[in-house]
Amino acid sequence: MEEDFDIRNIGSDREGEYERALRPSMFDAFSGQDKIVNNLKVFVAAARQRGEALDHLLLHGPPGLGKTTLSAIIANELGVGFKVTSGPVLDKPGDLAGILTSLEKNDVLFIDEIHRLSPIVEEYLYSAMEDYRIDIMIDKGPGARTVQLTLSPFTLIGATTRSGLLTSPLRARFGINCHLEYYDHDVLRKIILRSSRLLGVKCSDEAANEIALRSRGTPRIANALLRRVRDFAQVMSNGEIDLKIARFSLEALNIDKYGLDEIDNKILTTIITKFNGGPVGLTTIATALGEDPGTVEDVYEPFLIKEGFIRRTPRGREVTDLAYLHLGKKNEKNIGTGSLFD
Ligand code: ADP
Repeated sequence: MEEDFDIRNIGSDREGEYERALRPSMFDAFSGQDKIVNNLKVFVAAARQRGEALDHLLLHGPPGLGKTTLSAIIANELGVGFKVTSGPVLDKPGDLAGILTSLEKNDVLFIDEIHRLSPIVEEYLYSAMEDYRIDIMIDKGPGARTVQLTLSPFTLIGATTRSGLLTSPLRARFGINCHLEYYDHDVLRKIILRSSRLLGVKCSDEAANEIALRSRGTPRIANALLRRVRDFAQVMSNGEIDLKIARFSLEALNIDKYGLDEIDNKILTTIITKFNGGPVGLTTIATALGEDPGTVEDVYEPFLIKEGFIRRTPRGREVTDLAYLHLGKKNEKNIGTGSLFD
């Protein structure tokens, strides 16, 4: 049996280093998300002119679309320090206090997966975000007392793939709220061409387009695929990436023609085989897949809807003819709708 290639986990060795090398550090090198970037440029310029910290910012959207990258760019363009942490790492208020007290004036603190903060840590964050103050507990038992610490003004950038899981008090404390969208092929093509230039690999326009089409609207996947295609070009050709070698590599890697990954295909197959193509409720689909409904709704479904594989109807989700075509399955509902004399 042919093994499927999971494009979400593509690459492994030194992936972090590779990603870092391709990460844009200024707004002008960041392609796509034009509306968000244009607004952020204004907010950053205004904060800089006033010498103040930028308002707290919430970035939400599926993984790999540039939330971390954009946050680092903001800190860079503000000319301030950038500290990175994540929701699950901060499990005690003391962990958060340690980071907050180390921030310098107007620095940016990036908290990835902010929906996974523990409730006590989250509560600490409220006063830190609002008044730049935290109360910390000193000592235990009868001698315990709280001391109030004043923090330097800072900007919190929270990133999440699941904005629906954020509590409303936390959400309300962000002055700026941005939703990152999947990238279209043309922007991904430009990102791939930029990355290949940075890597010193020649890549034709058509080849970049071919890789872009299979990147699931996601720059991280585009860069990861480029990395694998570069290997094929190096070993099997003269090191340059043209359409032929790009197609050959993507074929060899078993990358889906539309950029769908294993879970995407599983969702479509489930709706077709178990629910006769739909309409079927989201929770029912999620249960059949053994997934959490919120994850299906926030992480997987938006791409399938954007690319026209799934439709939302008042009675639930329904696959489109494109989904049947893609999976090589027959739409039983269309059978028998023609004339009796066909
Ligand atoms: P997220 O934090 O949303 O999961 P990242 O910021 O880590 O995504 O982005 C993943 C990779 O994709 C980065 O290493 C970066 O090189 C690349 N990338 C993301 N967005 C862009 C963009 N708009 N332009 C160029 N490269 C991008």
